[in-house]
Amino acid sequence: MSLDHRLSPELDELRRTVEAFAHDVVAPKIGEFYEHHEFPYEIVREMGRMGLFGLPFPEEYGGMGGDYLALGIALEELARVDSSVAITLEAAVSLGAMPIYHFGTEEQKREWLPRMCTGEVLGAFGLTEPDGGSDAGATRTTAVRDGDTWVINGSKCFITNSGTDITGLVTVTAVTGRKDDGSPLISSIIVPSGTPGFTVGAPYSKVGWNASDTRELSFSDVRVPVGNLVGTEGRGYAQFLRILDEGRIAIAALATGLAQGCVDESVRYAKERHAFGRPIGHNQAIQFKLADMEMRAHTSRLAWRDAASRLVHGEPFKKEAALAKLYSSEIAVDNAREATQIHGGYGFMNEYPVARMWRDSKILEIGEGTSEVQRLLIARELGV
Ligand SMILES: Cc1cc2nc3c(=O)[nH]c(=O)nc-3n(C[C@H](O)[C@H](O)[C@H](O)COP(=O)(O)OP(=O)(O)OC[C@H]3O[C@@H](n4cnc5c(N)ncnc54)[C@H](O)[C@@H]3O)c2cc1C
Repeated sequence: MSLDHRLSPELDELRRTVEAFAHDVVAPKIGEFYEHHEFPYEIVREMGRMGLFGLPFPEEYGGMGGDYLALGIALEELARVDSSVAITLEAAVSLGAMPIYHFGTEEQKREWLPRMCTGEVLGAFGLTEPDGGSDAGATRTTAVRDGDTWVINGSKCFITNSGTDITGLVTVTAVTGRKDDGSPLISSIIVPSGTPGFTVGAPYSKVGWNASDTRELSFSDVRVPVGNLVGTEGRGYAQFLRILDEGRIAIAALATGLAQGCVDESVRYAKERHAFGRPIGHNQAIQFKLADMEMRAHTSRLAWRDAASRLVHGEPFKKEAALAKLYSSEIAVDNAREATQIHGGYGFMNEYPVARMWRDSKILEIGEGTSEVQRLLIARELGV
C-alpha cells in the first residue's frame, strides 16, 4: 500500500483548529494546573465543546464521524503543547469509550457514548493490577455471577481518568471462569462510578502527566447487573489486545507531538539565547541537535500516520502500530533530553515547557505496552 501522507482539507482544518486551541487556551493555563497537580476541568470542558472526545465515533452516537487519523491529529497537536490534556483525551477515547463502541451492546452504546462524545462523562479502562501490567493475562480481579449480577473483587492500579468529578465508569477486566486447561477466562465489565464497594484511591504523586488523573481502584463485593458485561464472556483478553493495538497508534501520535513540541521550543530558544556574544543557534553543535530532533519527529509522524491509515482502511496494522509506538516514544525521550540540554539551566526550571516535556516523556516508553513489550510484539510478527 502506498501512503499518501498529506492531510485531506478536513483533517488539515482540524489540525489547525486544535493547534490554535493548544496555543491560545492550553499553553497559557496548563503550567499552573501542572504545578498544583490539578485536573484542568475548564480546558477539558472546552475540548468537549470542540467535539474532540467524539472525533472517531459515528454521528448517531453523538460523535464527529471521523476516524483514528483524526484522533491522532488532535492528540499530536495537543501534545505539542501539553501531554496531560492529550493523555486525558487519549485515555477517554481509546481506552474509555472504544471498548463500548467496539464490543458493547446497542443499549450500552446508547447509554454511554453520547455523553462520552461530548466530554461530559469520562470513561476509564482498568486492566493493570498491582501484580501484573505487561503480563495482562495474570489478572487476579474476579467477577462471579450471582443471579442477575456480577460480584467483583480485586484491585487495579495506575488507571487514567478513573477518579475525576466527571468520570462515569471504569471498564474492568476480571476473571469470570476457567478453561478446561485451568487458564483464566477474562471478561470486561462496566462498573459505574459510585457503585457501592468500588473505591477510588487518592491521585498518585507522579513524575509527569501531573495535570492528568491516575488512581488505584479497589473492588469489594461490587455488584453490577449482568448486562454490564462488555462483549462476549471470556473474550476480554482478545478484546483488550485489540483496544491496545489501536491505542498504540494514539500514543504514537501523542509522542510525536511531544517530540515536535521540543523542536518548536528549542528552535525558538536557540534564536533568542545569547552566549559568547551570539545566539546559541549559531553553533553547529546546537544546529545538529535541532536537525536530528526534527528528523526524528518527522519520521515518527510518518510512522503513526501509516499505522492509522492501515487501521482506517481495514488493513492489518498490529506490527505498524507497535513500530510506531516504540519509535515515537523512544524519540520523544531523546528529543526531550536534547531540548532540556539546549535550554541549559532554564530547561531544568518548571516554568519552561521543555521541563514539563522532559518529565512527561518517560511514561511514553512504559504506558500501553512497554518498549520491551513492543519489541516482543514486533519480533512475533516477524515470525520469531
Ligand atoms: C501514568 C500511568 C497511567 C496509566 N494508565 C493506565 C490505564 O488507564 N489503564 C491501565 O490498565 N493501565 C494503565 N497504566 C499501566 C501501564 O500500562 C503499565 O504500567 C505498563 O503496562 C507496565 O506494566 P507494569 O507497570 O506492571 O510493569 P511490569 O509488567 O512489571 O514490567 C516491569 C519491567 O519488566 C519488563 N518486562 C516485563 N515482562 C517482560 C518480558 N516478557 N520480556 C522483557 N521485559 C519484560 C517491562 O518491559 C518493564 O521494563 C498506566 C501507568 C501509568 C504509570
